[in-house]
Amino acid sequence: MNQIIIPRVLKPKNLLTQEEIQQYFPKTPFNALENSFHQTTCSVCLEEFAQDTICRQIYCSHIFHDKCVQIWLSNQNSCPSCRVRVTKKAIQEFLKAKAIEAEMVKLPEEQADITIPNTDESVLEDEPSQLEKKLLIHSK
Ligand SMILES: [Zn+2]
Ligand SMILES: [Zn+2]
Repeated sequence: MNQIIIPRVLKPKNLLTQEEIQQYFPKTPFNALENSFHQTTCSVCLEEFAQDTICRQIYCSHIFHDKCVQIWLSNQNSCPSCRVRVTKKAIQEFLKAKAIEAEMVKLPEEQADITIPNTDESVLEDEPSQLEKKLLIHSK
């Protein structure tokens, strides 16, 4: 007897768990999100976002309704808009790269702060004298 193989819809591997979705993409009202793609609609349900709708923004910066993204990510491991991989590994790598980038951006800024000339001359005059006083106290 021939067995009929019913094709099962294959779920992609490495789907995010509900906890991971919550951890990486917290619920945020639409108007509080940084809408870098100027999105007005959700690519899952194709409906327009209301300003106070609870949404989730995934790491590629795309925004979806809270419920839509949860349903989507429990069946798919990519962004419905740009198809970027949405797996724990991909997110962690992205966050790591972002942290390194932030470090690299931070350093020149800190150096720039030091080299900014202090135009307040009274401070310039004051500081060495205070230091001198301290040195004098210590030398006694
Ligand atoms: Zn939606
Ligand atoms: Zn995306």
